[in-house]
Amino acid sequence: MKIARMLCPVHSLGPGERVCLWTQGCKKNCFGCTAPELQPDTGPEIDETALAKIVNAAADRAGCTGLTVSGGDPFEQSPALLKFLSEVRARFSDILVYTGYTISEIKSGGAGEAGTECLKYIDVLIDGRYIDALNKPGLALRGSENQEIIFLSPEKETSYREYMKGGRILETFTHGPTAVVTGIPDRDRDRDRKEDT
Ligand code: SF4
Repeated sequence: MKIARMLCPVHSLGPGERVCLWTQGCKKNCFGCTAPELQPDTGPEIDETALAKIVNAAADRAGCTGLTVSGGDPFEQSPALLKFLSEVRARFSDILVYTGYTISEIKSGGAGEAGTECLKYIDVLIDGRYIDALNKPGLALRGSENQEIIFLSPEKETSYREYMKGGRILETFTHGPTAVVTGIPDRDRDRDRKEDT
C-alpha cells in the first residue's frame, strides 16, 4: 500500500485520540484539493501486514482507540486497503475512512470488488469528490457540503454528532523536516481573488 504519512494522536479528524494515515495517490483531480502532493501515484509500497503492525504499535504507544484513513484516495488502492483494514479492525473501536468515490459508486463496484468489501470493516465513511464552491466554514469533518457522513455502524452517530458541534479543528505536527496541518481547512479565499484576475 502506498502511504504518505502517519501521525498520532490526532484529534482533528474524528472523535477521541486517533491514528491518522494518509495514502498516496488520487486521480480525481478536484479543483482546490488541499492535498495535491498526495495525488501522484508514486513512492514505495509497504506490505499491508507490516503496516498494520506499525499502526497497531503506534496506537498502543499513544493510547489511540480510533483510526482515520485519508489521502489521496484510499479506495484507489482497494485491494491493499481491504487487506490492511482486515488486519487492524480488531485493534480499533472506530474506523473512519475518507474517499473521493461516492458510496453508490463503491457499492456498484466502481472501486472494484475489494472496494465494496472494504465497507464491512469501516464504521464511518465520508464520501464524494471535493467541490471547492461548497466548502462552507464550520462544516465539521467534511471538505464540502456534497460529501456525506455515512454511519455504516449506526451506534457511532451519537459520538460523531457531539464531536462535530465543535466545528472544524486544525492541528499542526512536524513530520520530518516539514510542518503538516491536519483537519479540514476553510476554502482558500485567495484562490477566488486569483480566479478573478
Ligand atoms: S478526492 Fe480528495 S485527494 Fe483526490 S483530488 Fe479530490 S480532494 Fe484531492
